[in-house]
Amino acid sequence: MSSPTPVIYLDNNATTRVAEEVVEAMLPFLKENYGNPSSTHTFGGKIARSVKRAREQVAALLNAEPTEIIFTSCGTEGDNAAIRAALAANPQKKHIITTQVEHPAILNLCRKLEREGYTTTYLSVNEKGMLNLHELRANLREDTALVSVMAANNETGVIFPVERIGQMVKDRGILFHVDAVQAVGKIPLNMKNSSIDLLTLSGHKLHASKGVGALYVRRGVRFRPLLVGGHQERGRRGGTENVPAIVGLGKAAELAIANFEAEITQVRELRDRLELGLLRLIPHCQLNGHQGMRLPNTTNIGFKYIEGEAILLSLDAYGICASSGSACTSGSLEPSHVLRAMGLPYTILHGSIRFSLSRYTTAAEINQVLTVMPQVVEKLRAMSPFNSETDESQGWLQERQQDLREKDESLKAVSF
Ligand SMILES: *Cc1c(COP(=O)(O)O)cnc(C)c1O
Repeated sequence: MSSPTPVIYLDNNATTRVAEEVVEAMLPFLKENYGNPSSTHTFGGKIARSVKRAREQVAALLNAEPTEIIFTSCGTEGDNAAIRAALAANPQKKHIITTQVEHPAILNLCRKLEREGYTTTYLSVNEKGMLNLHELRANLREDTALVSVMAANNETGVIFPVERIGQMVKDRGILFHVDAVQAVGKIPLNMKNSSIDLLTLSGHKLHASKGVGALYVRRGVRFRPLLVGGHQERGRRGGTENVPAIVGLGKAAELAIANFEAEITQVRELRDRLELGLLRLIPHCQLNGHQGMRLPNTTNIGFKYIEGEAILLSLDAYGICASSGSACTSGSLEPSHVLRAMGLPYTILHGSIRFSLSRYTTAAEINQVLTVMPQVVEKLRAMSPFNSETDESQGWLQERQQDLREKDESLKAVSF
């Protein structure tokens, strides 16, 4: 086994370390077991049996039937396939309901669909990142084809009440898709007697490799493939299966089931220690997102009067990996669309950091972060032009706020 990289990795909502057991399970399929599962010879048949087993393992994680699982290449593909399939099932319906805080895989697809003639309602969230189900009810229409809501938010960890939402849309001929990429393995998901029709998950957020995911399609839901080709996945997704990654995803699902209780208690404990420690040790900071309705591994904290990007750079020098939002928007200085939707004030919006833990996070790592962060924040605040509520800093602040409002307006027109 190679030695672990010398980083403190607290960015598990961006991607996770591949479990050693998963690597071991994958290796034979990168080496001697290279056959094509569609081949009729015995060599290929053996591979097909391994894919079948992986399908059973993923189905077990969701308490679904193996025939309800389609392997995909990633969460983004699953989201696209689910939404396109739901719309194709009801071609006369042209309305979609989703939320303002979805992943770009959903938001940018909806933007594209609007150019194709669909209309989208983006449900708002309150300052804790929670949906208002009355708003959902008020927006259900005769021509609503699909409701797509994430199970848990990647940036704040806030959990949405998907079963309750499903109950509301059920029996109205509306399909219900759930992006569960962040939720799988972290909160229980049970497709038996569920109101969910379609559900997306991704391997690399679950200690499997990149390049694999799965889409759950409830039995009886009409499905049209996104990738048209061979008869793989019972005609629902063309393309020769990524066998090593699929076998690895099966193993990751098995590990997630076996370790579920232990993991969420241990991870939650460390997350709480980190969160409470930071909030206590550092003045002028606050938790972003509802405290209770949250994934056990995620904490998103706003540090007033400093830039999140500056915090990240300082942490990076200590080998500490965190994020200022989704990986897809970091690198640009646009504040997170999730925190903006929550209506957070300017100083929080620009100074927020997400720490996301995993089963591999240790108490020693959390202690190290608790030692480093107060120094980092103090140092940055000392250099900050708005480190106190002076007149000068207020003026600067107002100027920046005006900038942001203008930018917000222009952004609304283009993208999230
Ligand atoms: C990461 C993520 C995705 C996209 O998954 P990929 O496998 O990276 O394409 C979709 N939705 C959520 C909530 C995510 O966190």
